[in-house]
Amino acid sequence: MKGHKAPLIIYISGLYSGPNPSPGVGIARSLRQAYPEAVLIGVDYSNRSSGLHWSDFDDLWLQRPWNELDLEEYASQIRTILNTGALWISGLDLETIWLAQVIGEHPNLLIPPLHSLLQTMKPAIPAHNGLPVRIPPYVSTLLPDAELHKFCRKHGWPIWVKGPWYEAMQAESWRDVTTAVSRLAETWATDSLFLQAHVVGYEESIAFCAFQGQLLGSVYMKKREITPEGKTWAGHISEVPTEILEPLREIVGKLNWTGGAELECVRDVEGELWLLEWNPRFPAWIHGATIAGHNLPALLVECATGARALQSAPLAEEFTRVVLEIPVRPSYPLPPLPEPVANQRGLSFKHPSGMPTLAKGWRSRLADMTHSSLVMPTSQELSDFGLDNRDVPWLGQLLNDLARIDLEMETPCWLFFDSVARYIFQTTVQLTKMSDIIEFKIAYSVKTNPDKRLLELAKETNLLAECISQYELEKCISVGFQPEDIILNGPGKWWPGGLLRAYPVHALFCDSLEEMSRVVELLKSGMKLAQVIGVRIRPPQILSRFGVPVSSFDTFRRLVNLIKSLPPDYAFGLHFHIPSNEIGMKSWWSLFESVVRWAKAIQVSSGREVQVLDIGGGFFPGDLQNEFMSKVGRAVKQVRQVLPSIHEIIAEPGKGLVQPAMGLAVRVLEVRRSRSQVIEAVVDGSIAELPEAWHYPHRVLWLDPNGEWKVLGRGSSLILGRLCMEGDILATGVDLPQELKQGDILIFCDAGAYDRSMAYAFGRG
Ligand SMILES: *Cc1c(COP(=O)(O)O)cnc(C)c1O
Repeated sequence: MKGHKAPLIIYISGLYSGPNPSPGVGIARSLRQAYPEAVLIGVDYSNRSSGLHWSDFDDLWLQRPWNELDLEEYASQIRTILNTGALWISGLDLETIWLAQVIGEHPNLLIPPLHSLLQTMKPAIPAHNGLPVRIPPYVSTLLPDAELHKFCRKHGWPIWVKGPWYEAMQAESWRDVTTAVSRLAETWATDSLFLQAHVVGYEESIAFCAFQGQLLGSVYMKKREITPEGKTWAGHISEVPTEILEPLREIVGKLNWTGGAELECVRDVEGELWLLEWNPRFPAWIHGATIAGHNLPALLVECATGARALQSAPLAEEFTRVVLEIPVRPSYPLPPLPEPVANQRGLSFKHPSGMPTLAKGWRSRLADMTHSSLVMPTSQELSDFGLDNRDVPWLGQLLNDLARIDLEMETPCWLFFDSVARYIFQTTVQLTKMSDIIEFKIAYSVKTNPDKRLLELAKETNLLAECISQYELEKCISVGFQPEDIILNGPGKWWPGGLLRAYPVHALFCDSLEEMSRVVELLKSGMKLAQVIGVRIRPPQILSRFGVPVSSFDTFRRLVNLIKSLPPDYAFGLHFHIPSNEIGMKSWWSLFESVVRWAKAIQVSSGREVQVLDIGGGFFPGDLQNEFMSKVGRAVKQVRQVLPSIHEIIAEPGKGLVQPAMGLAVRVLEVRRSRSQVIEAVVDGSIAELPEAWHYPHRVLWLDPNGEWKVLGRGSSLILGRLCMEGDILATGVDLPQELKQGDILIFCDAGAYDRSMAYAFGRG
């Protein structure tokens, strides 16, 4: 008779049930179906965890927050509980890791052993070996900013910032990256963070349970509806495909896995599966699997205890969530309202189970683990900071230029790095020799920095100049450019005056149908405006205010008619300009291919050959010379296959040529310390002189007492501008040297593009 047996007692932790829920409630619902008589005891560390009030829990064991718990005492209480025969199913990642460390393997503790947990740590997730999944590219945030920025440019936005335990933040810009890195480092008390490329696709998960290395059951779940945080709201349950199940069974055996698990994946557009996380616990949607007839928590308990579970009949393959109001248990009233100001960030709702406090208290032992698992950068890579960076092939030139600056200068002061500029222009111009089937031209974008010295250098190195106004055109002519060295672009190229001050220019690209029809009229009236007449196109799916939106049928038809009316004695060209440093090089290349297809469509419909392709600018320094250079040969061949008529390609780099060519020298006004550590320095420069301070990393040099230039590494100090403005912060997360003093000179490098041209006068009376 059942009555003789001691009742099944099961502790279940992780009860928060909000928009980013823990699995406790789902586990309890599933176990209740299988074991109506079992005693289910909910465990949590905060009275804010709403699942405390879920009626399937017969009792609660509410703990003090992690930072107030006597962890040794708590561990010994749990040991006693397990020894009396009760089971423990953890729904909290960090609790699982802590239990694996302090209690280790116990037949009633239904969590994986410590050595297997190490195999599941992000980002490498070594346990995935053998599964038909891949791990998205990632990089440790311990690497220099320049490397991280390069990673972002390569993979494009968004980028994920992740810790080794839990939580990921999506970054849409460099500024987001720096904010997310400091936020996560603070929350989880770790610097073992990493950036990971985003994979576009559908989210799919595998949940399983195992006991001492034996796979007991598994399901495949396709998310059908997700919350803004990316959490499951509805899903479809099916069997795990054999090609995953077989290797999974073997891996689970090798890991000697016990407990629940969830593998979170994304299936990309090509059908490839990418593994993002391997959680060492049941997912919060686990009751959705039970609804589909796969009660994984019950399978686990059945195997661990031998107690027969009632079968759950499959009700549906699909499940959805609803929002429910339930009574609050009178003995656990709602906590008092938090102070409105303190709760501004809503942190208490984000991590109600207080895992961050455990992360802090348990910091050193967790750190040991993360350092062993995260693929850490080598000390060589770390010492390659800034000035020795592979990204700075012009180091010799820079040191040369630095040796020549006048240290008595008034600050803030713009420094022109002449040899650096020369070096970059000269290496970039090599690109023009890359193909003998196509003429490759480089036009310097004047607006990026119209400094006369740069224009002269562009002229000297035989570049063309790309202008967006008549003022720019005039300035170019004044430094010696001929009209046929000029490319005119943008919506304001006729301004001021409405007439070209010199022509025929080399190429003129119309920004709209209206402009195109005006140009056709002028050409017909006999004005030879340019050798190449073209149009800028706005590719579909790109948010831009520029160019002709070719994806609209009506616009396309009007464009084609205008092209047909273009007098035959002009070459016809197409142009696009979508900065690769914003969308990432990978997307840029897809865009390039898409533009080539549009060019073909335009050529076929208009009967007019496309002879010139202008690919715009927007390349970060180094990207044109490396990333672009390595692929352009193949791209040219493709272009020629689709459009044999193209004989000229133009690139219009701006910042890629000149960003490293200037620096901003500032002096330290005040050094601020806390517990004798330098935490902040106020300088006499500001965002008025460095308006792009937040947009990409700038290397900061400091002239040390020996007169040597040192690059500031990563740290936790701030460089504040002189303005009385909250936003006037020039650098965060830098390592300010102990010897830094008032009057010292710092140089913000990489300020030769829009920092210089868009600087403004402010706060000077
Ligand atoms: C601004 C601009 C460029 C140069 O952009 P960078 O980001 O400085 O490389 C090139 N082409 C056009 C049409 C532009 O408007």
